[in-house]
Amino acid sequence: MKNIRDFTLSELEEELVNIGEKKYRAKQIFAWLFRNVQDFDEMTDLSKELISKLKENYYIKNLEVANSLKSKDGTVKFLFRLNDGNCIESVLMKYKYGNAACVSNQVGCKMGCKFCASAGIGFVRSLTTGEIVSQILELENQTGEKVSNIVFMGIGEPLDNYENVLKAITIINDPKGLNIGARHISISTCGIVPKIIQLADENKLQCNLCISLHSSRNEVRSSMMPINNKYKIEEVIEACKYYIEKTNRRVTFEYALVDGVNDSLSDADHLAKLLHGMLCHVNLIPINKIKDGIYEKSSTEKILKFRDRLNDKGIVATVRRELGSDISAACGQLVRQSQKD
Ligand code: SAH
Repeated sequence: MKNIRDFTLSELEEELVNIGEKKYRAKQIFAWLFRNVQDFDEMTDLSKELISKLKENYYIKNLEVANSLKSKDGTVKFLFRLNDGNCIESVLMKYKYGNAACVSNQVGCKMGCKFCASAGIGFVRSLTTGEIVSQILELENQTGEKVSNIVFMGIGEPLDNYENVLKAITIINDPKGLNIGARHISISTCGIVPKIIQLADENKLQCNLCISLHSSRNEVRSSMMPINNKYKIEEVIEACKYYIEKTNRRVTFEYALVDGVNDSLSDADHLAKLLHGMLCHVNLIPINKIKDGIYEKSSTEKILKFRDRLNDKGIVATVRRELGSDISAACGQLVRQSQKD
């Protein structure tokens, strides 16, 4: 049995031909999938024969709600159980411009960033395309809200699950799929350089690229993020410049401020120098303390001074609003909970 949400429209056309059906049926089925039907029987314009053939070969549902929490600020976090019993988390955040879905792309993560809760839980497996797309559909289904923006900032490293993430983006972007414009889709990465270059070359969709930078000094960044031992800051920046050149899109650098580690004014100057002349934006994040974490949040005063210093040096920087921290749904606080939950 295959998950029917794993396919882009053109793949579904091939599937249909392979089971002896007309290609155009794929469009009908695809459209139903994004009207959020849970069962083939709900696809009322298909013949009984086709529905039973679909049931023999495919299934639709691939996650169920194991738990949910609602924050004071309206953010809702869901713990979804996958068909194999593993759990992931997805978050719906409300902004003035619309609702953003923060989706996971792996069960656990291999990257081992010292400040991130997802690292502490190890790596189990990558999600399929269907499991990624279903998080958005299920968020809409559960909350009755429409999602207008997608951020790949949940559990996992999207560029370590490149193929499935890109396929999910194709489906999310498809006018017959979720119909969300590429400019409303953001991929956040810890900086896997060859994949950034591949994304620049292949990403005709031009979605937003966010880089988890967190320090402009290799020594400091390596102590926070093991990936920096493999791809140094200079290489990441080169790859970003290539991305900008190819896509004409502004890159976002995420920078979580840690007290006494990366938050001095000289750190701000160093960062400004590194990013000088780039089409970019710096998103400053007050770091969230995780269980057994060694890092402490910088004071608000320090964060604002850091921001002002960057702005003075011509680097656009803003402080990210913290949503959902009371329900452990803010950055780095997503943890895969045990299967019995
Ligand atoms: N693996 C991807 C996406 C997941 S993390 C990446 O590394 O970008 C999403 C964002 O949250 C990243 O910018 C990450 O660095 C940040 N983050 C992780 N842990 C955090 C914490 N404890 N406090 C604040 N931000 C955190």
